[in-house]
Parts: sequence; C-alpha cells; structure tokens
Amino acid sequence: MTTPLSLPVESHAAASSRNACKLCTPLGACFVFRGVEGAVPLLHGSQGCSTYIRRYMISHFREPVDIASSNFAEASAIFGGQQNLRAGLLNVIRQYAPRLVGIATTCLAETIGDDVRSYLRDFRRDFPDAPPVVHVATPSYSGTHVCGFHEAVRGIVDQLAPAADTPGAPHDAVNLLPGMVSPADLRYLKEIFADFRLPLILLPDYSDTLDGQTWTEYHRIPDGGTPVADVTRMAGSRATIQFHSVRAEPATAGRLLQDRHAVPCHTLGLPIGIRQTDAFFKILESLTGRPTPPPHAAERGRLIDAYVDAHKHLLGLKAVVYGEADLVVGLASFLAEVGVVPILCATGEKTSHLARQIAAVAPQRPAEARVVEGVDFLDIETHARALKPDLIIGASKGYALARKLDIPLLRVGFPVHDRIGGARILHMGYRGAQQLFDSLVNEILEKKQQESPVGYTYL
Ligand code: SF4
Repeated sequence: MTTPLSLPVESHAAASSRNACKLCTPLGACFVFRGVEGAVPLLHGSQGCSTYIRRYMISHFREPVDIASSNFAEASAIFGGQQNLRAGLLNVIRQYAPRLVGIATTCLAETIGDDVRSYLRDFRRDFPDAPPVVHVATPSYSGTHVCGFHEAVRGIVDQLAPAADTPGAPHDAVNLLPGMVSPADLRYLKEIFADFRLPLILLPDYSDTLDGQTWTEYHRIPDGGTPVADVTRMAGSRATIQFHSVRAEPATAGRLLQDRHAVPCHTLGLPIGIRQTDAFFKILESLTGRPTPPPHAAERGRLIDAYVDAHKHLLGLKAVVYGEADLVVGLASFLAEVGVVPILCATGEKTSHLARQIAAVAPQRPAEARVVEGVDFLDIETHARALKPDLIIGASKGYALARKLDIPLLRVGFPVHDRIGGARILHMGYRGAQQLFDSLVNEILEKKQQESPVGYTYL
C-alpha cells in the first residue's frame, strides 16, 4: 500500500505562480540577438523552449522569428548537451551563414550544469573560422525576460568588445543601451540622435529585424541590426547612455564599458513623459553642446498644450500599472505628471528597488497606494479589487483583469497579442508621451460614452 503524498497547501501555493507577470529569461536574450546584424539566436536546451518563445514574439511582432534549438532529448539531459550544441551550431552556420550566433541556455541545460563555456572553447579550437559565438546563461527559475535581455546586452559587450588591456580607438559616437523597448521607440531614438547630429551605436537595434517591410522572397536573416564591428567599437565611444531604474549597476553593459575602458556612463530611467524625457535631452545637449533641435522642442510644447487641454478628464483617476519594472517606473512618472494616481505598481520581477524608484517619480500618492514585486496576476487582481482603479496600463496579459473589473486597458510594452501594431507602440520621448496621453484620454472618454444614458457627442 502506498502512502498518500501530503503537501502543505500554503507552501505549495507560495512557490507556484498563477498567470505570471513575467516571461521566460531566454526570451529577453532572443530579443537582443535579433537586434544584432546577421545574428541567429540558438537556445541550448529542449525544442519546446524555442517554440514557446517564437510563439510569443510572432504574436506580438507579426514577423517570422527563427530561433534555433540544440534540441535536447533524454540522453542529453543525462549525459550533457555538448554533442547537441556542436551539431546545432554547425547546422545554424551551414544553413544561415550568420555573422554571429547568440546562445542562451534554457532551464534544463542550466539545471544539469552543462559547461557551455568549455564546449565553446572546444568548438572554437576545432572550427577556428566559425563566426563569433556569444553565450549567456539564462535560467528562467532565477530571473525574468528582462534579466535575459540585460544579460545578453552585457554578454555581447563583454565577449565582443576588446579586453581590458586593449583600449578602444577613440571616436565621436555615443553608445545607447535603451533596454527592452519597441521597434518604434528604437526608430525614434535614432531620429533624435540624427537631429542632434550625434553619431550613435545602438545596442540592440531590432527596429527593422522585428518590424520590417514586405519581402518578395524569404530572407533567412532579416536585414538590419547593430553591426558586430560597431559592438567592438563601443570601447572607444565618448560616452554610454543606458536606460534603466532598477538594475544592479555592476551588472550592466554601460558599467562594464566604464570600468574596463573608461567610457563615461550616464544612467537614467526610461524617458517616458516630460520629466524623464527632459533629463534625457539634457544629457544630449551637454554631450553635443547644442540646444534641443526645434522640431523636438515644438513636440514638447504641443505635449504640454495637450496636457492642459485634457487634464479635466484625467485628474484624480487611479491606475494599475504592471509589467517590466523599468517600464512601470517610466509609466508611473508619466501618470503622476498628467494627474493620474498610480495606485498599484506591480511587477513579476524581484528588484528590491521598485518602491524607492516609484516614490521618487510619483511622490504624492495616497497612503493606500501599493508597490508590489514578484507578483502574478492573481496577486495583482487581489490588490486591484481593494484599490478600485479606474484604468489599467500594461501588456495584453492584463486583459482578463480589465474585463473582470470592467475598466479600460491601455496596452503598452510586451506582449501585445490581442491587437495589431504592438511593434509600433511608441512609449518614449515627447512624441511617445503624446501618443500615450491621447490614447489614455480617449480610453477614458470612450468609457464615459459607453456608460452615459444619453450618449454625449461632445466631450
Ligand atoms: S523550460 Fe525554462 S527556458 Fe524553457 S520555456 Fe520554460 S521557462 Fe523558458
């Protein structure tokens, strides 16, 4: 007779997550590898991981997304995945002729402790003419997609930029590490740098590779991305600007370039809303010695005018904001400046910095306002029901919550897989704030119209 397995219910529940407010770590790394020219991502692990990530990316970007897999089976899980990795690399090189292969490890490869670094040393010894290979460790059980994204950026810089004892040849470009933003944001950032006449090395740059034009014939690797040669030049840039609020500084690529090559690093939050964007433009003004170009100053002026025109519709409303911690901080800053209270700021990440950052950008929240980390959508719903918000801002994953609470959802970030145009949502700068603001006000107006017994036509 077998003894029934008895699990303490509370500890089981605490260790599980229900409808997670985060995605798997190699997914973030795949974003980055897709933003390097001629690169192919290769997941070291089981086939299903690559399928899951491809599904997420394709449903958001509506683009073909090839992600190779070393395709573990039972034997690789027991004896290690060296042969699979070698075969996978050779297949990818033969079929895609890539300029870079970006390897991210999955949970299984990390759990069995596969020594990918030594596998790659052996591979380079046997195939010295193979293209560069970058490897990042991305176990999903100890991070989120955002960790995978930043790990991959740092890994690319660490493994492709010159070693510490080899100084980079100085040049005038500025490195920009924008974080996990949309292709539309990347295009806009490039436009801003061009208008400042400031040469730019943007890493990653998936503005074309994940939001491209129509093809008359299939491309195995889409055009676009940061050239590998530019990554090696980052060590000689005059400065680095990196957008993040909650990462541990020593773990960032900007800090690595500063410590290893004395490239000065400016760190600031995602430039969402006027205040955060002003801080970004101030750095650009100081680096170039030029004032903000007139078209951008005019966009700022129009944005303030729009704030004045529509503040009566937003003032005092309460919003739930969730998603990547850096995005939540940027959105909370934007909401605070347009008169909306970010009553609940939530992320699936565990950063320990979110509450402090939210307090800095939105200091005037009521006592009942909450900042919560490491939560899933069940936790978010519990808090939201108590706080009675008027609207929700975040990715499509919040749709079920918005439907239950019968309040509008403004879709931002990733993934947006129940609307078209996720790749073209602009969040950053004065132009992004304008689009967010108009969309936000219009969501509120539509809700008012729906609920009105008479159906107002002038609002
Ligand atoms: S097993 Fe790990 S790496 Fe693979 S899809 Fe699941 S969370 Fe992601």
